[in-house]
Parts: sequence; structure tokens; C-alpha cells
Amino acid sequence: MKICYYVSVFERELKELEEKHLLRSLISRSSPQGPVITINKKKYINFSSNDYLGLAGNPEILRAVQVALKRHAFGSGASRLLAGGSMLHKKLEERIAGFKGTETALIFNSGYSANTGVIPSITSERDMIFSDELNHASIIDGCRLSRAGTLVYRHRDTAHLQTLLRKTRARRKVVITDTVFSMDGDLAPIKDIHELCRRHKALFYLDDAHGTGVLGRGRGALVHFGITPEAWVIQMGTFSKAFGAFGAFVAGSADIIQWIANTARSFLFSTALPSCVIAAASAGLRLVERNPSLLRRLWANRERLFEGLKSIGYHDPFSMSPIITVRTARVSGALRLSQYLFERGIYVPAIRPPAVSNPRLRITITAAHTEKHVDALLAALKKTDLSLLY
Ligand code: PLP
Repeated sequence: MKICYYVSVFERELKELEEKHLLRSLISRSSPQGPVITINKKKYINFSSNDYLGLAGNPEILRAVQVALKRHAFGSGASRLLAGGSMLHKKLEERIAGFKGTETALIFNSGYSANTGVIPSITSERDMIFSDELNHASIIDGCRLSRAGTLVYRHRDTAHLQTLLRKTRARRKVVITDTVFSMDGDLAPIKDIHELCRRHKALFYLDDAHGTGVLGRGRGALVHFGITPEAWVIQMGTFSKAFGAFGAFVAGSADIIQWIANTARSFLFSTALPSCVIAAASAGLRLVERNPSLLRRLWANRERLFEGLKSIGYHDPFSMSPIITVRTARVSGALRLSQYLFERGIYVPAIRPPAVSNPRLRITITAAHTEKHVDALLAALKKTDLSLLY
């Protein structure tokens, strides 16, 4: 078969994507991440990042990176098991364990790598995973890589989860949920799921990527719900969102984390994060611990936006977090609305399949936004023709 055959196949498939309004293009900033970004020499108020506390460009983080660069240079050279890690990795793990109230913690190179590494590591063919239907793609991929079976329960539906847990015989049961759902902004019913896990002797794996730094005085969903982590609870979180840095972690009991460090393939077979990246995450953690006012500002901005949207006729019935969505009936409606805002200097991305089944604008608000930024978005939305949404 000639290579040009494949070229024409991809061309055709790309065209099909374009016709369905599903073709994506990459946006390249020429400014740092922040509440205002520059794209093609034009400034935009930015409602697209997960930099919830506005720390991505924080000078303390930059200073910590410079110091670590001087001391440790850049490349880490190997995986942690082959001495690719430094004392900074170890120290950060100890601090994260303290922050999350667990015995110990382990750093992963990203949230994606944590979920696709840990889920297959803690499950085998004799086990069953119970996964919320709107869990993040990295959890879905982790379940696919696992040899265990996966039962998907209806979104946030603990009655459905209970039925599935009751019906299932397996050596080990593992319930997995996002804490804050990344594309809907709602919260999992953590208290009820925790109780179900206790009753059914299931491991409870929480992806707290959007809860860490945002909920429970920054400590995440378990603190928010007043739950002390027992040995059968595993908390995953990222440094790439509210901490303004990069990388991820799992925190839990010493035995489970040691098992993960011995068996998670994305940990074993991947080069360690550079020390200066770890220094950035450490500085982000310190900033979260020492600056409760950042969280207060984040939530005040969130309330201003949420209530403002209500006052102009958009009510998001799902959002319980800094992620707020404006749903549209069709993909083309979401794209048009996003474009309309873009032309007015406001960047809010349209989210469409396969990321979600129902198209929407996903607005993320941060502590770094000013009231003026929020009001500019509200003013622009107020002027839109509601028929755009259909
Ligand atoms: N889990 C959730 C819920 C996420 O939203 C994301 C990223 O957006 C990830 C995991 C992956 O984290 P990372 O971006 O660090 O790979």
C-alpha cells in the first residue's frame, strides 16, 4: 500500500472533523499565563486556565525555580528509581503528605501520568473498578490500562453505585471519582461515596486535581467534607492547577504508596521531573498554605461571576466551584459564542466532543481576576443574542 493512501485518509478524516465543527487548532500565547494574555499581539481577558489562585507567574515561584536551577541545573537524567530524583522530590513528598493528612505521598510527572499509572497498579484481573461516568479522560484511560473490570455508575448517583457495589463479587473493589468535575464544575458526593466504600470494603481513589488548592482551605475535597483519610483512601492531586506549577502526586498509606512506587509503570519507566519544577511546586504549596486570602479572593470572584450570570439570565445548575459553564444546544453555538467573546477581547474556550458530550463554554475564574474583568465578561454576555445558543 502506498504511503499517499494514508495521507488521503487523514485528509478526509480531518475534513469530516471540520464539517462537524470538531477540528481544533492550537492557540499560542506570547505572554505568560494570567488573567490577561496576549495572542497574536492582542490582549484578551482570559477565562480558560486552571490557575485558580493566579500563582502561575508568582515571583516567589520564579525565585524558587532560579535557586533550584543554580543548585541542581536542569535535566534529571533518569527515573526516580535510577537516582533521577533529588532531595527536593523527597521533601515535597513529605510536605504533601502533611498537607493531605496521609502517611506518605509520591510525585508523578503529571496528573495524566498519575491516573494512568496508579489505577492499573492498584488493580488486577480479579478486581472491579467503579467509575463515575463523567470522570476525567485520564481516569478512563487508567481504567482501560488496568486488567480489572470497570463498571461505570451514573454521574454522582450513589444509589446506582450502591447497587453495583452490592451486586459485584471481586477480590478488590476500587471506587474512583473526580472530586470537582473538570468540565462541569460540580462536586462528587464525597461523604456518601466514602461511607459506601467503608461499608463495601472498597478502596476510595479521589482525583482532587481541581479541589487541591481550591476546597477545604486549599487542602482539598476531604477537608472540605470533614473526612479524615483512612488507610483505604488514596488522594491524587496536581501541582499544575491551583499551585501554579507542574506535576502531580498521590497521597495515602505507606504500604499503598510503596506498592505504587514499585509497580506504577508511568512512575517506573519515565524520567523524573527536573528539580526546578519540584521547587516550583514546593513554592506553590507554601503560597497556598500561607495565603488564605488568595482563596477568599477566588471564591469572592466566583460568587460575583455566578450571581452576575444569573442576573443576566444564565443559570448554571451544576457549578459548585470556580468552573462555570454556559451550555449550548449545538457545537456550532458554543463556537459562535466563544468567537463572539474573542472578538471583544475575552477568551473563553468552547468545549465540545469528545471532551464532553454536550457542548458548552467553560469559564474558569481565578483569584487573579479583577472585578473589572468579571464585569467585562458579564457585559459582553448580556449583549449576546440568546438565539446564538441554539
Ligand atoms: N485529572 C483531572 C480531573 C484533570 O482535570 C486533569 C487535567 O486537566 C488531570 C487529571 C491531568 O492533570 P495534568 O494536566 O497534570 O496531566
